[in-house]
Amino acid sequence: MEQSLIQAQKLEALGTFAGGIAHDFNNLLMAIQGRASLMRVQLGDTSEPLLEHVLAIEEHVGSGASLTRQLLGSARGGKYNPQPVNLNLLVSRCAEMFGRTRKNIQVSRNLSDSHVVAVVDEQQIEQVLLNIFVNASHAMPDGGELHIGTSLEMVGEKGLGSHPLPAGMYVAIEVTDFGVGMDEVTMARIFDPFFTTKDKSRGTGLGLASAYGIVKNHAGCITVRSEPGHGATFTVYLPASERTPIVPPEHEGAVVKGAA
Ligand code: ADP
Repeated sequence: MEQSLIQAQKLEALGTFAGGIAHDFNNLLMAIQGRASLMRVQLGDTSEPLLEHVLAIEEHVGSGASLTRQLLGSARGGKYNPQPVNLNLLVSRCAEMFGRTRKNIQVSRNLSDSHVVAVVDEQQIEQVLLNIFVNASHAMPDGGELHIGTSLEMVGEKGLGSHPLPAGMYVAIEVTDFGVGMDEVTMARIFDPFFTTKDKSRGTGLGLASAYGIVKNHAGCITVRSEPGHGATFTVYLPASERTPIVPPEHEGAVVKGAA
């Protein structure tokens, strides 16, 4: 069966699974959180060690709730609010946000001068890019360069490699790291829900599965090239649009072209 169809079915199965339990599980977490807050209030201003335990419970419950939200988000693809977006601006914003939090990663950009606009849900594509950036930084634990480029690409009747994309113009967002890379066996599984090679504190195996689902919902695809020890390049393809992008007021007049 076509690889992308298998992938879509796996995501659908994950959706049913997550949708079925995540809501109830979240209610349980909320009940625990409610009790923990009551205990905190009753303990009042105290130096009792018990208070520390209660605060720890609240913190862990918070992490659990955020994991449940991520599960639900990846299963349903979140709320979908598509608009024409200038992807140079979106990429720049994500790169800056990311660069601020990872001081040992040098982000370089090579953004297209063309009309790189696509009709997308900005928040969802932001999540896709950030997932890819975070993986890149994990692949370079001692730091290094993260290169991000945008371009307009024509996809022909045959689609894109094994991806059956409809023919047309696409905006390609290419993210390259120079980290540990992957072998073929790993690469074949990276979009599978819950596949991770990281330890439990770092990896859930949901980042790329959710990125895949989001980009697929946008009628695009994600490709990957990598070799062990030689880094990895992820490319996100989104159908290009001729429409005029909505410019958020804080970005008006921003310089987005060229290397940074
Ligand atoms: P997680 O980050 O929680 O492990 P992901 O779905 O984001 O889940 O990634 C799945 C796996 O893909 C990672 O555990 C890792 O093995 C591999 N991977 C993803 N991005 C890269 C990268 N840039 N370089 C090397 N391996 C990667």
